[in-house]
Amino acid sequence: MAKIQMKTPLVEMDGDEMTRVIWQEIKDILLLPFIDLKTEYYDLGLAHRNDTDDRVTVDAAEATKKYGVAVKCATITPNAARMDEYHLKKMWKSPNGTIRALLDGTVFRTPIVVKGIEPYVKSWKKPISIARHAYGDVYKASEVRVPAGAKAEILVTDRDGRETRTPIHDFQGDGVVQGMHNLDGSIISFAHACFRYALEQKKDLWFSTKDTISKTYDHRFKDIFAEIYEQNYRADFEKAGITYFYTLIDDAVARVIRSEGGFIWACKNYDGDVMSDMLATGFGSLAMMTSVLVSPDGVYEYEAAHGTVQRHYYKQLAGEETSTNSIATIFAWSGALRKRGELDGLPELCAFADKLEKASVDTIESGVMTKDLYLISSLPNKKAVNTTEFLQEIAKRL
Ligand code: NAP
Ligand code: MG
Repeated sequence: MAKIQMKTPLVEMDGDEMTRVIWQEIKDILLLPFIDLKTEYYDLGLAHRNDTDDRVTVDAAEATKKYGVAVKCATITPNAARMDEYHLKKMWKSPNGTIRALLDGTVFRTPIVVKGIEPYVKSWKKPISIARHAYGDVYKASEVRVPAGAKAEILVTDRDGRETRTPIHDFQGDGVVQGMHNLDGSIISFAHACFRYALEQKKDLWFSTKDTISKTYDHRFKDIFAEIYEQNYRADFEKAGITYFYTLIDDAVARVIRSEGGFIWACKNYDGDVMSDMLATGFGSLAMMTSVLVSPDGVYEYEAAHGTVQRHYYKQLAGEETSTNSIATIFAWSGALRKRGELDGLPELCAFADKLEKASVDTIESGVMTKDLYLISSLPNKKAVNTTEFLQEIAKRL
């Protein structure tokens, strides 16, 4: 059989631990037999990040900007324990944080829905994607404890030195104060990424904040989205038969639970953090959650939402059998290959991505799955297989 040809390389970012093991197996068992795989390889494994003083992460992000599509394996974000384990020169930053900052992107997370893994919410039939704004608010805030008798104000000094003071509170008892910010530029990028992604996916876009209470801060988000929609996207949305819908966050939560799914829900940073875990759990499993970073100028980086599955890796190192779910990582590859195919006009590559996803879902729906799914699947004739067997079962169907 002739292998499918590619034109432009994918930016391939290798990673750590169990997902690094799976990464190689996915390529060997599911990709290389069918595709003349072209990638520009960056090793984001922690040892190599350390050797290159984390230069490799920046290089990989730059390459992503150049080529437009990347696929990334899960990576360790170092903490104190990892400093010792990997003899690190420094506690390197989260690669995802570094890449996100360089691409100025928005992360979209979408669950993979399969028969037998029923959402906890009965009405959910189609996946709901979360778009989380990844800049500012409480994640870049300053906080202080305030003693009784103190007065707190917001003081803004403009570039000419003029001061504006806005009262916060006169403290009769002890308390706390928090100051946070966001940037129009970042909100604008977020809005463009959401509207573009909705058009591409041909799905409705919802956006929610608490602008009735936060009449300046959250209202700014609402206004920016509304302006950008009217100026740049309304006509295209109408042509595509999709809608943009703004509502209050509490109303959105109620509607999400009653909905059938099938839309994209854009959230501010904190709301997105909370709601994406709610959705992942609600749909059944973190191991079935895909993630794509989309920059406002249309650059894409695909990955799984879960981490490096450290516990399974140590079992593997000890020579024990593992049953790690590779679905989200497979879908990262299929997402990236399909996008590459679309950009380069390679329908065969797009078709391969569709078939790979179908073979993966068919495998689980036929009752063959990894242990994490086995524990929650309602299928009558289910069977748990190990990490490699699961990939081989998909290959059979592919
Ligand atoms: P994790 O890798 O997501 O795993 C947490 C637990 O969830 C696992 O121990 C496993 O449960 C279950 N699980 C997750 N993915 C699974 C899969 N594909 N198949 C089967 N079970 C799965 O989170 P972590 O162990 O807290 O973090 C490990 C490392 O990942 C950390 O160093 C962290 O920095 C990194 N991390 C990276 C990313 C990223 O690169 N995007 C994201 C998050 C975390 P059981 O053990 O019960 O089987
Ligand atoms: Mg979280």
